[in-house]
Amino acid sequence: MFINEIEYHNPSSVDALLACLDQYGENGKLLAGGTDLILQMKFKRWPQQHIIDIKSIAEFKKIEITASYLEIGCSTTLSELLDHDGVKGLYPALWQAIYELADRQIRNRGTLVGNVCNASPAADANTALLIYHSEVHVQSSAGSKVVPISEFWLGPGKTILQPNEFVRAIRLPLPGDRFFSSFQKLGRTYDDIAIINVAVSVEVDESGQCTGARVAMGAVGPTTLQAPLAAAHLLGKRLDRTVIEEAAAMAGDEASPITDVRASAAYRKKMVSVLVGRALHDIVRRSEENQ
Ligand SMILES: Cc1cc2nc3c(=O)[nH]c(=O)nc-3n(C[C@H](O)[C@H](O)[C@H](O)COP(=O)(O)OP(=O)(O)OC[C@H]3O[C@@H](n4cnc5c(N)ncnc54)[C@H](O)[C@@H]3O)c2cc1C
Repeated sequence: MFINEIEYHNPSSVDALLACLDQYGENGKLLAGGTDLILQMKFKRWPQQHIIDIKSIAEFKKIEITASYLEIGCSTTLSELLDHDGVKGLYPALWQAIYELADRQIRNRGTLVGNVCNASPAADANTALLIYHSEVHVQSSAGSKVVPISEFWLGPGKTILQPNEFVRAIRLPLPGDRFFSSFQKLGRTYDDIAIINVAVSVEVDESGQCTGARVAMGAVGPTTLQAPLAAAHLLGKRLDRTVIEEAAAMAGDEASPITDVRASAAYRKKMVSVLVGRALHDIVRRSEENQ
């Protein structure tokens, strides 16, 4: 497998990157870690001839916790996030998703923003990012905008990004004291792409009743999906065995997977319920430890 001839650009400032995007955007691709892009180049999935490397722009390597959010810059690697105590402590489902994403070699190279922009419906970090109400910081020479991550993906490999735009950072609001989350993945091997993955978040009041919930699922539709009915079923209730079983069954009904080389649609639907149930039991355990 040979790669088509390409022209490589290595801007060292944001202005130089924006100029590159204005000039080559239609016919260019951004390169972060390259763990998705290089494979796609070998399989000739896209016709663009200009590669624009973003790794020389120092300010893109960033993990910052402010008074209201965590910001992750677009060339921050998955390993850097895994080694960050704040990520592990505040966003355990995101940390677990990264821990189960590929292996150390890939995580040393690959970025969180690359996982988001590649828009695979099976991407592990994306499922976790959905439950934290994450936002995508998009920039172009015309200015900046912030988009809820739930509106960012349009289909497999497709996002709302225009050719002259790039993702500068991902922002996650800081979770409250009674916000709990869990990520669960089913794969053929420890470092394989997910057969399915799920992430669940639950916020409870002082009496233990659920005041907010999100259920996200990967590899069950054209993009990473939410299960709004399952999440709504948890509201106003304590998470006992019956409520967990009911919500887990509803999530399975909300999934719309296909049959492919990894698993049948029926198996995936069944396993969504199993994994959502596991995530909710994990959340109950975490909330009890927190008392
Ligand atoms: C062996 C192997 C195993 C893998 N296992 C898993 C797994 O278990 N789970 C999983 O989720 N993924 C897995 N992956 C996929 C991949 O490693 C991840 O998706 C990774 O996070 C991609 O990051 P990257 O920096 O390498 O992206 P790149 O390959 O550099 O880019 C990916 C896409 O995003 C675009 N892009 C990158 N940065 C930006 C930006 N700032 N703005 C706009 N567009 C941008 C690129 O143009 C490209 O289209 C695996 C890959 C390999 C090779």
